[in-house]
This record gives sequence, C-alpha cells and structure tokens, in this order.
Amino acid sequence: MKRLALMALSGILILSESCGNAGDKKEKDEVKKESTPCVDASDSTFQYQTDQFADLRVLRYQVPGFQCLTPKQKEMLYYLYEAALCGRDIHWDQNYKYNLTVRKTLENIVASYKGDKNSEDYKKFMVYAKRVWFSSGIHHHYSSDKIMPEFSKSYFADLIKNSDPAAFPLHGGEQVDAFEQRMEPILFDPNVAPKKVDLDPKKDLIKSSAVNFYEGVTQDEVQKFYAATIDKNSKTPVMTGLNSKVIKENGKLVEKKWMVGGMYSAAIEKMVYWLDKASAIAENPEQKDALVKLIRFYKTGDLKDFDDYNIAWVKDVNSVIDVVNGYIEVYSDPLGYKGSFESCVSIKDMEASKRIKAIGDNAQWFEDNSPLKPEHKKKDVKGISAKVITVVVEGGDNAPSTPIGINLPNNEWIREQHGSKSVNLGNIVEAYDRASGPGVIDEFYYNDEIKERVKKYAHLADKLHTDMHEVIGHASGQINPGVAQPYVTLKNYASTLEEGRADLVALYYLLDPKLVEIGVMPSLDYGKAAYDEYITKGLMIQLSRLAPGKNLEEAHMRNRQLVAAWVYEKGAKDKVIEKKSKDGKTFFVINDYSKLRVLFGDLLREIQRVKSEGDYKAGHDLVENFGVKVDPALHEEVMKRYSKLNIAPYMGFIQPKLVPVMDGDKIIDVKVEYPKDFVEQMLYYGKQYALLPVEN
Ligand code: ZN
Repeated sequence: MKRLALMALSGILILSESCGNAGDKKEKDEVKKESTPCVDASDSTFQYQTDQFADLRVLRYQVPGFQCLTPKQKEMLYYLYEAALCGRDIHWDQNYKYNLTVRKTLENIVASYKGDKNSEDYKKFMVYAKRVWFSSGIHHHYSSDKIMPEFSKSYFADLIKNSDPAAFPLHGGEQVDAFEQRMEPILFDPNVAPKKVDLDPKKDLIKSSAVNFYEGVTQDEVQKFYAATIDKNSKTPVMTGLNSKVIKENGKLVEKKWMVGGMYSAAIEKMVYWLDKASAIAENPEQKDALVKLIRFYKTGDLKDFDDYNIAWVKDVNSVIDVVNGYIEVYSDPLGYKGSFESCVSIKDMEASKRIKAIGDNAQWFEDNSPLKPEHKKKDVKGISAKVITVVVEGGDNAPSTPIGINLPNNEWIREQHGSKSVNLGNIVEAYDRASGPGVIDEFYYNDEIKERVKKYAHLADKLHTDMHEVIGHASGQINPGVAQPYVTLKNYASTLEEGRADLVALYYLLDPKLVEIGVMPSLDYGKAAYDEYITKGLMIQLSRLAPGKNLEEAHMRNRQLVAAWVYEKGAKDKVIEKKSKDGKTFFVINDYSKLRVLFGDLLREIQRVKSEGDYKAGHDLVENFGVKVDPALHEEVMKRYSKLNIAPYMGFIQPKLVPVMDGDKIIDVKVEYPKDFVEQMLYYGKQYALLPVEN
C-alpha cells in the first residue's frame, strides 16, 4: 500500500512516500540518514484545542507511528491501555474520600437531568463538572484549592430532584433529599476539605490536607509510625508507605494496602487481568520480566517486589513499547510517602530519541564538569537511558493534565545502582506547541530583540531544558554516606528542592558550548532564550496561574520562583537581572548571561549540598524565603496583563481511544481514534471504568 504523508521532522518538512513498504528505502536515505520503512506521520490539519473553560484548556494529541507497529505490538498496547484506565477510580479516590461520590453525582445529572439544559445555571453547572473531571476531583489539579461551584445550593437541589434518583450513589435506604443535604457541604462549604495538599508547616499537614491517604491519625503519629519502620542503615531501603492508606484500628496505626485482596482490590484485579495479557505477548524477555514483577507487586503489596519490578523495568531498554504503571509520584501526600496511581503507555520515537541519547551519552562529562562540590559528584553515572516517547494513552495522575518529561524510578538507591529511565513526551510537547500562540511572549518580554529570540529559539530550548532536567538533572549528584533519602531528611521541601536542582543542572549547561559541540543545540542563542524564559516565567508569568491572595504551593511553581528569585537577589548589586518598567508594566531583563550562569551554578551547588547532607534547616529557608511568598502588587499586575490575552493557563488532554478489531475472540488489529468531546470521554470513562465502590 502506498500513501502520501507530509512529515515534520525537527522543523524540516520531508515529503515521504510509502507505508509498510521497505522496497524503495534508498531514496529516502538521501534525505534522512536512516531508513523509515513505514511512515505514519502527524496530520497537519489536526485540531489540537477543542474546549476552554475557567482557567483550563482541553487539547488533543496524535499518535504518529502507531499504524506502523506490528499487530502484536498494537495488541499489547491495547492491553496496557485498558490497564491504565482501570486505575482511574483509584486516583480519584486517593485525591479525596468523596470524589467518587461527587463524580457519580455529576455523571448522573449530566446523563439524566430533565430540566432546561440551556439556562445560565446549567452552563455554570457544566463548567463546574468539567473542572472536577479535569482535576480528577473537587480540588484544583495545580493549586490544590477546593473548586467552588458558581451555581447556588438551591439550583443544586433542583438538579438532584430532576435527575434519575436511582442512579445517585445513595447510602442504603437513603432518600434523595437526605443525599442532597449530605452532598451540599462537600460541594459548597469552603471550610470542608478546603485544600487537597496543604504544606503550611505551622499546621498538622494531615488534618489540613484533604487527600485520602490518612484517616483518624495525626501527622505526629504517622511520622513516629514510619520512623519506627524505616531502616536507616539499609543500603537498599524500600519506599516506605508508598502503597497504603494509614488508619487507626483499636488505638493502633495500621496500613490498608492497595493490592489484590486489599484496598482498591476491584480495580487492581482488573488491571492485573490486562497486565497479564500484555505480559503474555511481550516484545522480549526483559519486558516480560518487568510486567510479571509488576503483577506480583500488585498481588503481594510488598514494596520489595515493587523495587524488583523497578529494577527489571530499568533494564528493559530495547522495547518499542513502554509503560509506567503504579503508585509513582508522592507530590499529593503532604508527608511525601504515598504514591498516586499513574500510567503512561507509550512507543519509542526513534528520530527524536537521537537528541536525548546524545545528551545521555555525555552524562559523565556533565557530572565531572558540574559546579557541585567534588564529594557530591557521582564518580560513575550509571545506566542513564534517555528517549523521546510517543504517548498512546495516559491515566490516573497523568491525565487529563500531564507531565512533559518523566524520570523514574524514584527510589534513590535503585537510581544509583541500576540507573533510571528518562523520557520526553514528544507528541504531548508537540501538541502544546501547536496549541499556543505568540501573545504571551509579546506581552511579557521587554524588547523586540528578546521577543524575537524567544520566538525563534525557545521551541527547541524548551525541549533541551526538559531533556537536560530529566536525563542529567535528576540523575546527577549523590547523597553522603549515612544520610537518609531526601523525603525523610527534607520532608515537605524535598520535592521542590529536587525539581530546583534538576532545573539548575539544565540551566547551567544550556549556556555551555558542550551542547553545541555534541550537536544538539545549534548555538548559544538557544541557551540565552532559555534564560530569558526561565526568569520571566519564574518571576512573573507563572503568577497568572495563582489565585489572588495566595502563595505558591505546588512544587514545580515553588522551585521556579525559588531559582529565579534567588539569582535575582544574589545578582542585584551587579545588576545581572534588572527589574525595569515600561508603559506602567514590569519586566525582568537579563543584563549579563554569563554571570547569571555562574549564579545558577552557585545555587545548584548549594541545593546539592542540602540534599547530600540532608540539611533540613537550609532547605526550609531556601524554599520559604524565595519559593513561597508572592509580591501581591506584581501578582495583580500579571493577572491583569494575562487575562487580557484570554488564554487559559492550564492544559490537559482528551485521550486517544484504542479500538480492537476482532476475528472471533481474537484481536487481529487495533485502530486509534481521536475523540473530540471532553465531556463524552469523561462520561464514557465513568461508565466503562467505574470499578470501585464510593467512599473507600
Ligand atoms: Zn523533575
């Protein structure tokens, strides 16, 4: 079969023929060094953005390359896709105990409300429902504040009264009126579960955070409980507490494990069913080994099994298909123990992986030449595997809002002894790029020279920043002997400091000729554009995402301001970065890029020292002094300037849908579809993957 496809590769448009036909590969080799026997490129007319509401935009992404896979590979992807979506309820329930109840309530109203669906009130209700779907719960996915409905309680009562009473998640024998009364404070009372994750060190973080990781216990009790469990002398410590909810039984703290036969069993059993099918047709023994070990972990709940799985997963580097599936990031736990369920199913993007591989191949050079103190450098940076992936589906904590880079596993000793895998989510980044316009750059950058530089170079500079952050940043440095892992020593500041450290490694090298030398960056102008962006985003643009009167909570936002504000202050007397005013607008302008690079290096060395030595006090001071507080006047100015652009600051995705083609009960092929309607997908997921009872 022949097919004409327009393929965009690193900014060069290549007109390329053929799909599944390797016969005429010589011609293509003249354009591109390596052969591509099959071409399944992005569609240039694809509609990326489909919806915008509140502070959110809904985008879609394509899965180029999918049709070129073998039927077996597609079948395996389909199984992993199902496994990913089976964890959806787990993530909702982890975020807040009543999220599933709220979601089922919203689903039923959308499906069965008999009143006027064109009224202003109903439109407000739909905005609320979409916001809750987008955030996988009633708390904003980024700020973690409770999402407040803009319709009234009496309208809510009307919605309930005029919808199918049998489909609400009623308690046994409960009347609909009583149900409505029970739901009211959950939706409307600003004092009930006001925050998903509260990091205010003056409070009991468990009491003040709404996440469903602990119940009936205090922060102090939990910290003592885990302090007694953690083996500080172990050279191979497990991620203590990662896969359980802590409750009190007969006055004693116990863990309810998330496993087959334990908490969330119904969803996990289904997930294991699909993972089992995937492992049976794995591409190679390494991939199979990893999946078998993941299944074992879900069955035993033993964190040693999780470590075994991660080691096997790190070793699986040759497969085209990859999957992240498990309790992974701990950002949603104010104490940093509990992993949120996430999944990312992907295929390798061979072309773009070359860039990231060139960086990974030089990992030792980057470590040796970094500004870290000699004793904090890794003598032997091991097993950094880096690639660009094409996402096929994401679930749990990765959807609808997604990261653009992933570096795993998180267990420090596994990273040190076995290495880690680092990926850049290529088709997601592409969708972001295609969906955003030039308005923000024109508004927030000082003059034409800077604006042009950012417009011209930031596209690749952003990719390089992500690559360096993930591949070199998170992998670099070592902890002093006898010092525990950062989540133990640095507690609630560990995530912010770790992200800051990885950003600083990226920033430090983005102005190094080494990147030009190894052929991944055409000139240092890209590095300058990266600096322009980082400072302006860290000190100003990101404030557009923050509600008035709030301080920064989210780890990545905190780290960006921490880095930008620290170098601004330390370079103040030399005017390395200058705060300027033009037409009543504020700008931060870099006067000396080389000096700024030195300052980035200084801060990198200090944050590495904090991590290596487990210096809680210094970490606390860095984050609290530079990364938390916001200048209210500047914040207000940024909000005003940003709102004029009418761009919602947060983006998330509708997931592709995989549809198996059956011959009897055998899958012979799988098709990928790109649904356009966010609400439809949420309702479909709500039906198809409703695996858990409400209120676990
Ligand atoms: Zn990171």
